[in-house]
Amino acid sequence: MRLLRDLPIRRKLMAILMIATGGALLLAGLLLLTLDFFRFRKEMKTDLGILAAIVAQNSGAPLSFADPLAAEETLAALRAKPSVLGATVYDVHGRPFAEWTRPGTSPDFPARPGEDGAAFAGGRLILFEPVIVVGERVGTVYLESSLSDLWERLQVRALTVTIVFLVAALAALALSSNLQGLISGPVIHLAETARAVSERNDYSLRAVRRSSDELGRLVDAFNQMLSQIEERDTELLAAKEELEHRVRDRTVELSEANAELRQSNRDLDDFAYIASHDLKEPLRGIHNYSMFLLEDYGDKLDADGKAKLETLMRLTRRMEVLIDSLLQFSRLGRVDLAIDDVDLNEILAEVLDNLDINLKEEKVEVAVPRPLPTVRCDRVRVGEIFHNLIVNGVKYNDKPRKRIEVGYLDDDPPVFYVRDNGIGIPEKHHDAIFRIFKRLHARDKFGGGTGAGLTIVKKIVERHNGRIWVESEPGEGTTFHFTLGKGDRLAEQHTEPTDPPG
Ligand code: ADP
Repeated sequence: MRLLRDLPIRRKLMAILMIATGGALLLAGLLLLTLDFFRFRKEMKTDLGILAAIVAQNSGAPLSFADPLAAEETLAALRAKPSVLGATVYDVHGRPFAEWTRPGTSPDFPARPGEDGAAFAGGRLILFEPVIVVGERVGTVYLESSLSDLWERLQVRALTVTIVFLVAALAALALSSNLQGLISGPVIHLAETARAVSERNDYSLRAVRRSSDELGRLVDAFNQMLSQIEERDTELLAAKEELEHRVRDRTVELSEANAELRQSNRDLDDFAYIASHDLKEPLRGIHNYSMFLLEDYGDKLDADGKAKLETLMRLTRRMEVLIDSLLQFSRLGRVDLAIDDVDLNEILAEVLDNLDINLKEEKVEVAVPRPLPTVRCDRVRVGEIFHNLIVNGVKYNDKPRKRIEVGYLDDDPPVFYVRDNGIGIPEKHHDAIFRIFKRLHARDKFGGGTGAGLTIVKKIVERHNGRIWVESEPGEGTTFHFTLGKGDRLAEQHTEPTDPPG
């Protein structure tokens, strides 16, 4: 059975058919031979019985007339029947009266007659037949026959059966090799179709139905399944195409919008740059003329007039500072970043070096918990970020022991932070502080300022594709967080050319 299990289905069917037909034929043959055996035995008994009856008939007279020679002559007639080995006639008292032996054989004559009738004994058939004359038993005839006839007939029969068996087996083989196709054909075809489908991923293939039996229904079910898969496949493909189409459209739209946005940003920067540049000249004129007025006509003015002129000059100076901030801010949008691998520890050291006097004056403790990483960025601009944030952390700080911490959080990209223990920023102002010229305090409080610092910091961060945000507890301190890119995409973003400096 194990052996059969792994055979190809074609062979399996053949084997099953052959085993079944071969078994049936063998059984039939054996049955036939067994029946023949018994039939032949019976026929032998009958034949020998007839022979014995004839001999008995002819032995009556010799027995009656006590003529053994005549009896022997009768017996000698048995010569004609080759299977008879010998014969004896016993008289009425059971004494041997006459006997005949086939030359070259040695029959085993019993000393006295046995029971009437035939019996197989010692590989021979023996028979006792009463000799009756006028209703009276006058003796017994004994016949002994070899079984060679029986074996001969059985041999012939066995040979016939074998030939019939072989011919039938051959016929069965021929038939079954044709008939097995009825079952294995569709199964193999189905298996091949399934394999082709999975190999080529082609769900439009179909198996051919050749019959309306269970196999036919199997083929139908298989085809139906394929249809369903094909249908779903088509739907899926259509949905995918539709989606891709939409994504493409949307990408085009977005990149168009993006380009427009970039263009208008650049226009704005150009405008701000040119406007502030152009404004500087008349402003300088106003400032200079105010100065001339003060110098040349100072003595003709009263104290109030002089004070007003001085205010005018202070305001023009302040305006110049504002315009310079605007120039710096708009220039940021117009120049390329100089991206390089930058060791942020070096930058921080430079920044702290520049601020050294200031920091010492204010007795600021600067902590860097662990060395900063090296990242791809614009060295000078990122220096400006640290500079601005550290300056603010010192500026907006009323604590006697001012403390600044510079560090980073492991993330992709790393998140840098500058933390102070200053006055803090109320949550409602967390957006406003990044707006240009937006200050939360009176002009001269906390050392003054233009309100452009954080706006510039934000612009630098965003030009690096980074993000900046603030966390603060008013009265406790403030932490500015920022990143310098969007992980792996940072490098790729900066290889594309940015706006040429105008
Ligand atoms: P400026 O410092 O010139 O005023 P900034 O843009 O640097 O301009 O800051 C904008 C405002 O944000 C500041 O006026 C201040 O009110 C607030 N601010 C900035 N940094 C801090 C800080 N570290 N702690 C508290 N407030 C701050």
